[in-house]
Amino acid sequence: MSTELINPEEIYSGWVSKRPIEIIKGKGVFLYDKDGNKYIDCIGGNGVAIIGHSHPKLVEAIKKQAEKLIVCPTLLYNDMRANLYKKLAEITPDPLSKSFLSNSGAESVECAIKLAKRHTGKPEIIAMKHAFHGRTSGALSATWNPKYKKPFEPLVPKFKHVPFGDIEAIKNNISKETAAIILEPIQGEAGVIIPPKDFLKELREVCNEKNVVLIIDEVQTGFGRTGKLFACYGHWNVVPDILCLAKAVSGGIPMGVTIAKPEIFDSVKTGEHYSTFGGNPLASAAALASIDIIIGENLPKKAEENGKYFLDQLQTQLGGNRLIRDIRGMGLMIAIELRLKVKKYILDAVKKGVLFLTSGKTTIRLLPPLILEKREIDKVIDIIEQILKN
Ligand SMILES: *Cc1c(COP(=O)(O)O)cnc(C)c1O
Repeated sequence: MSTELINPEEIYSGWVSKRPIEIIKGKGVFLYDKDGNKYIDCIGGNGVAIIGHSHPKLVEAIKKQAEKLIVCPTLLYNDMRANLYKKLAEITPDPLSKSFLSNSGAESVECAIKLAKRHTGKPEIIAMKHAFHGRTSGALSATWNPKYKKPFEPLVPKFKHVPFGDIEAIKNNISKETAAIILEPIQGEAGVIIPPKDFLKELREVCNEKNVVLIIDEVQTGFGRTGKLFACYGHWNVVPDILCLAKAVSGGIPMGVTIAKPEIFDSVKTGEHYSTFGGNPLASAAALASIDIIIGENLPKKAEENGKYFLDQLQTQLGGNRLIRDIRGMGLMIAIELRLKVKKYILDAVKKGVLFLTSGKTTIRLLPPLILEKREIDKVIDIIEQILKN
């Protein structure tokens, strides 16, 4: 983008610190700007583009459904939506089986919070320090970062935050008023923070003992990102009472899913929760196609294998770099934490044809499509090496 022109996005909108390129096309793991430059996409639409950009089967499903039916609210039955409810129950572990469909991760969390309160009749929610659950007022109350919250307080009352991974702190904070505990199995926005080995298992036991609803937010970790279809039971054999999904579920057509145990789901009565767009046939068709692709192409396995290769190569080639504080990840959810601010390096990488996310001021975060091949991984590592030399 030429620097003398101010983009309409700056004039008519704002709030986002942007990369200085205008993307007009995507194919697989690549994005293309309007001058025809090609980028390896390790932003992956903030973790949405798990199957890559414009996957032919997803495009076909969207086209077909768009010609047939786009709008159909949930007060009418719809074939695509019905198939999706069934599919979601099939791919998640028992007893998760009843879903509410919305339009974003934050909405999936809002619904989970309301469900837990309605089911228990209690007001208090325990969340984790450094957690991210979205930016609507309820989800923001569960989010930790004071920078996101302070300007908008007071938010929803009775949220407490305890250190992620600290089972004793959780036990000490559960009271007679506690409805639920909400957490990400691996903290994404915080910089890919993996909990201690037994943490989720112990947490499940504590929730059972104390009769507290366990809400797991797999908006970012879900659908194969970490090398398993879902991280909570794939890696730790833990099934929550309520599972929040979004990002990759429908390949980029907005959707949030809150899937719960029937006895919790059924505590909300007719009319108490609803969404105009939620579960529309177009998004449902996109979700069905995306899930088929994720499972049909065995993408969780690909993420596991390529993620391991990626981390091994990063350690081998960059482990000794004095600018790097830590390299960590699971599957294709990867963080490279530097000893200094990352912004300059991120912008250098754009010039060399790789797009990265960040976490905070010092961490490079990668959420590439799970179809990333070894040759592209090698290229990305090569470019990280180059930018860290400058
Ligand atoms: C991205 C994210 C959200 C919020 O999703 P939106 O679609 O932006 O509302 C919630 N939880 C987690 C773990 C996320 O990564």
